[in-house]
Amino acid sequence: MGPSGTGSHRVIVVGGGFGGLNVTRALDGADVDVTLVDRANHHLFQPLLYQVATGILPPGLIAPALRSVTKKERNARVLLADVQDVDLDRRVVRAGAPDGRQLELPYDTLVVAAGATHSYFGKGQFAEYAPGMKTIEDARYLRDGILAKFEMAEIATDPVERAEWLTFVVVGAGPTGVELAGQIAELAHTVLPQDYRTADTHQARIILLEGAGAVLPPFAPKLQAYTKKRLEEMGIEVRLNTLAVDMDHQSITVKGPDGLETIRAGTRIWAAGVQASPLARVLAEKAGVETDRAGRIPVGPDCTVPGHPEVFAIGDMASLDKLPGVAQPAIQEGKYVGRVIKDRLAGRQTPPFKYFDKGTMATIGYRSAVADAFGVKVTGFLAYVMWVFIHVMYLVGWGNRLGTLYTWVRALWLSHNRGNRIIAFETAQQEVAGGSTPAARPPTILPRTAPPAATDAEEAIPGAPREAGGAG
Ligand SMILES: Cc1cc2nc3c(=O)[nH]c(=O)nc-3n(C[C@H](O)[C@H](O)[C@H](O)COP(=O)(O)OP(=O)(O)OC[C@H]3O[C@@H](n4cnc5c(N)ncnc54)[C@H](O)[C@@H]3O)c2cc1C
Repeated sequence: MGPSGTGSHRVIVVGGGFGGLNVTRALDGADVDVTLVDRANHHLFQPLLYQVATGILPPGLIAPALRSVTKKERNARVLLADVQDVDLDRRVVRAGAPDGRQLELPYDTLVVAAGATHSYFGKGQFAEYAPGMKTIEDARYLRDGILAKFEMAEIATDPVERAEWLTFVVVGAGPTGVELAGQIAELAHTVLPQDYRTADTHQARIILLEGAGAVLPPFAPKLQAYTKKRLEEMGIEVRLNTLAVDMDHQSITVKGPDGLETIRAGTRIWAAGVQASPLARVLAEKAGVETDRAGRIPVGPDCTVPGHPEVFAIGDMASLDKLPGVAQPAIQEGKYVGRVIKDRLAGRQTPPFKYFDKGTMATIGYRSAVADAFGVKVTGFLAYVMWVFIHVMYLVGWGNRLGTLYTWVRALWLSHNRGNRIIAFETAQQEVAGGSTPAARPPTILPRTAPPAATDAEEAIPGAPREAGGAG
């Protein structure tokens, strides 16, 4: 017997992100029992994670509880569990509950929308030194790490050490890397300077690395050029054709047009690659199909797994018509799959999935963004207003929309402050433990515009390399 009490068609939805939540909502009122299983208890609006990581938004505004956002779907229930396996023959999903007990969840229809995770391109050891940002925990961890480095800069008496604490390297200049670098620059150059007495946070060095020849690789050249110019105006060093080849807790080694260079940096952030959820491979192996290079499972034009019309895979973990791993395909596929399930129960045919491209956009920093929608390329303040409108519209819940707007107006327009800067001693201790600067350190690369303190530092380490320019 399911949540609706009808004992009708059982639908298991794995993942309450953009794809899974939209399936669940599309099935509202249908004669089905939906079980939404997620390893988190919230729906996460990933596009605004970087604002949590930089202290603008509190986590709750972008991560409402799944129970709350599905409370009107009376035929749906939510389970907090980690899905580990699927038995396609017995039509059972296996999941682990938080206390370790194993759950077996039988289904008539299965929808897997488990998203994607970081990819370190075969260098998994980088994860220890350069955390990525996919979950709300990741964003909080990054925020604590970033803020703890400013605290250490205030404590440090050696200008070279202080410069290291104030060096932030973001790997990957896709939208997430650009947004993160832009917000760290605003934090350091606009928000924090008046709050610190010893550390001059203006001197923070923010370096954005990109392996390709342009920032925002999938965007139009005009938007790429505008973004690079704006980032540089914000004091960010943009290094193109530059790859991270090695790193540890104190430094990152990059390979660019000028060869190898080791940069001493208190913070390294990974925004370079993604790969499909491991569940894509589990499903693919069971169904006897191959995943693509990004680990995604290929699906048919109706989003079903080959040979299994009762199993759908959607969103970031599925490969269909070369659609990008962004929110719109997941949202539209989720709505579509809900419709297919209802049509099947009513004995109707559903036409194949058709994607409606609504364009792409990214913010760069204070009141500036780029947008490419319906063939029109917009930059600057107008693009920023479009970005604000779209992101607020797609947040889940009116309370969160209003709360986000209020927080933005207060933080970004009125006070130029960040209301979510809480770290405790123990957190800071953990954040800097791995990154503590040993006494014997190799030559340091100093901030681009040498402040009085940095000049001292330069003297302290004869021959310390100066900044190497935009091309690394
Ligand atoms: C930092 C960041 C910024 C982004 N910015 C943008 C943007 O500006 N615009 C845009 O269009 N897209 C953006 N994206 C991409 C967009 O968020 C994704 O394309 C979208 O979330 C994909 O939806 P999905 O439903 O496939 O997966 P997700 O939304 O990731 O949802 C997957 C869900 O599955 C759950 N899950 C995973 N594994 C399991 C398991 N084993 N058991 C149970 N549950 C599981 C997860 O907890 C999660 O809730 C961004 C992504 C990130 C990470």
